[in-house]
Amino acid sequence: MNLMGGKTGLIMGIANERSIAWGIAHQLFLNKANIILTYQNDSLKKRIEPLSDKIKCKKLYKCDVSLDPGNEYSIENLIKNINKDVGNLDFVVHALAYSDKEELKGRYIETSRQNFLSTLDISTYSFTRISNSASKIMNNGGSLLTLTYVGSNKTTPNYNVMGVAKAALETSVKYLSVDLGKKNIRVNAISAGPMKTIAGAAISGARHVYRYSEKIAPLQKNPDLEQVGNAALYLLSDISSGVTGLTHYVDGGLKVVGIPNQDMVNI
Ligand code: NAD
Repeated sequence: MNLMGGKTGLIMGIANERSIAWGIAHQLFLNKANIILTYQNDSLKKRIEPLSDKIKCKKLYKCDVSLDPGNEYSIENLIKNINKDVGNLDFVVHALAYSDKEELKGRYIETSRQNFLSTLDISTYSFTRISNSASKIMNNGGSLLTLTYVGSNKTTPNYNVMGVAKAALETSVKYLSVDLGKKNIRVNAISAGPMKTIAGAAISGARHVYRYSEKIAPLQKNPDLEQVGNAALYLLSDISSGVTGLTHYVDGGLKVVGIPNQDMVNI
């Protein structure tokens, strides 16, 4: 298929071949997108290089979203370099998040101020920052996409401060869609069901939630990389040209039934 022919975009958040960002990159590649990737740090670079070859990645940059604007590896510098090396962008995928593992267990009430701020900076504000920078080099409209989880609007076991960050992220999607609508830039989120990734495993008891979700979801299955990749393909291509400001659930229907409460899952 050729839904992304002629489009160039940035995908952030590949750590390995299980990453949601990789599932998205692969579907976009199959649909003829020109893809630019980032990696967070030098130890991840070795793992990402072979993957970048598989999708004929145009350019690979290092970027850590927690760095200040003046830094060589900051978001702002990344966009400047992309504009210089490749030109304009048509889409951006933001598939990254971080919180201290020690606080993705136990009670939310004990979240430290420092981890609250860094979780929201990396997992939430970075999307606003990248939207602001990238939109300046999106001259023919475009599409911005981020990843969220149902823990934003329901309490789910041990998700804690990440749930608060995802709630703010989903609200950011709405405000950004208003700010950027005039430029015909669309902004959406995919809320994926539980998936076995490095970030997913950082949440205490993740395997119980994974199994439980699979059992109760109407489709009796958690999503796979291809399903999330295909939803991203829809949201990043012109076939969703009238769709913006929304969170789209790709979770086997989990949102319909919900995860009832901590005790039921942590057995
Ligand atoms: P992953 O561990 O494969 O990817 C997380 C990525 O975040 C990694 O590539 C990591 O390098 C990057 N990252 C963390 N801190 C960063 C920083 N300071 N600068 C730049 N990059 C940084 O896990 P994943 O599950 O593919 O996560 C991708 C997104 O999907 C996240 O937003 C996550 O919250 C979301 N999500 C995951 C699940 C799940 O169950 N795995 C479900 C719904 C949503």
